[in-house]
Parts: sequence; structure tokens; C-alpha cells
Amino acid sequence: MTKKYTIGKYDSVFIRCPHCSNSNEFRSKSGECEMNNYTLNDCPNYVLIDINRDGECECNCGVNYKIDTKERKIIITKFPSKEISVEDIISFLSRSETIAEWKGRMSVIENFDSNIYQKIKDNERDIINMIINKKTINVLALFV
Ligand SMILES: [Zn+2]
Repeated sequence: MTKKYTIGKYDSVFIRCPHCSNSNEFRSKSGECEMNNYTLNDCPNYVLIDINRDGECECNCGVNYKIDTKERKIIITKFPSKEISVEDIISFLSRSETIAEWKGRMSVIENFDSNIYQKIKDNERDIINMIINKKTINVLALFV
């Protein structure tokens, strides 16, 4: 986790790491600061606006992320290693349980690797079907 420099009263927003699902705390000192706990979905705008005050979250899994306050979404700023493989990305996408979650994960990849993003976008329907049918090997074949 990011070192926290916030002192005094603040509000906490707990946001799951998009990579390992650990719940990490972001602190905001805008607004009432009643030591309330929120999630990214339910935190008021006046809390959200200050959410990156302590910098990006450094998750224990090696991923860093911050929050796009306009779009209310997570932006991954660092992956665990420089070399992230197609396998890692497919496995990351395949943990989506809804189409909305898939779209969220796709927007993360777009920020990270636009080449792989585009290739997945071009074959999105096939890839989703293959993942549902657990044919991961076939998905990976699209990238060789
Ligand atoms: Zn993590």
C-alpha cells in the first residue's frame, strides 16, 4: 500500500485492486471528513475529487493504480513486471463475470497495451466465447 501522509480527519474509499482483488484504502480530505467508509461506486463526488491526494495506490501484488475521477474508474499505472504476457492479459480478462466488468477490464488494458487491446477488440466476440468454453489455448493462438 501507498504510504499515507494524511493526518487528522478524512474519509476512506476502499477500492479493489483490478489485478489481485485486494481491497486498498484511498483517503480524501475534501468535504465533511466524518471518517466515513465508501467504495468507488458509492462515494460522493466531493469525496471522489480528492481521492488521489496521497498519490497512486501501490498494491502488495506489484500493481499501482489511481482513480480517474471524471470517469470514476481505475487506471493501472504499473503492472507487476515490465513484461506482461498475452497469457496474463487473457487470464485477467477471463476473470470478468459480467459484460460490464469485461468492459472495465478492457479499458484497463487499453491504457496499458494498445496493441494487445486492439487485437482483442478485433476478435472480442470469439475471445469471449472461447473463454466461456475455457478454450484458453485457442485464444492464445490468435496472438502468435
Ligand atoms: Zn493487487
